[in-house]
Amino acid sequence: MVSQGLSFFQRGYTCGGGGNLSLKLPDGNILATPTGSCLGRLVEDELSVVTLNGELVSGKKASKEVGFHLDIYRSNAAVNAVVHLHSTYLTALSSIDHSEKENVIEAFTPYYVMRIGKLPLLPYFRPGSNEIGKEIAKYTSQGYTAVLLANHGPVVTGTDFINASDNAEELEETAKLKFLLEGMNVRFLTEPEKEALSGMKS
Ligand SMILES: [Zn+2]
Repeated sequence: MVSQGLSFFQRGYTCGGGGNLSLKLPDGNILATPTGSCLGRLVEDELSVVTLNGELVSGKKASKEVGFHLDIYRSNAAVNAVVHLHSTYLTALSSIDHSEKENVIEAFTPYYVMRIGKLPLLPYFRPGSNEIGKEIAKYTSQGYTAVLLANHGPVVTGTDFINASDNAEELEETAKLKFLLEGMNVRFLTEPEKEALSGMKS
């Protein structure tokens, strides 16, 4: 988590104190980035360990956004890691007033289909609000890999920490391509093409 946080920071996926990471430990507790921490300057001994109910086990106090990470773990036992970033292109996308909110990125690469599939846009909530986790859990309980918080950024899950990190990077890259392709005659994947990818993992 320390090295991946630094990697996200150095490659511009996050800046300042934005974003937070968590993963499920073998004993069922959750390892999370501490409150106010910068992903580029995480210290192993300071990482927070909390129970699924949010009680601190060791380390510093967890991020104020850890609540929605816990809601996600409780919503779907297959989720073993959560990556939340304020990455540039996805945060830009989250700040557009989309009329269609069920999926704000129509598929134009197979990798997006294999890793994410659909990206719902959730309403705006004050950061740290308890409502965020309830809204996210509605989607993660149905098997969605990622959601986009309006005027905020992406929340991406994975079967393990590397998988969640790779999913987050693929999603940010897809959003960047979406902006690059703005106004162009994009060839989107057809329904049969998407169906042929179902069950495939990149
Ligand atoms: Zn945030």
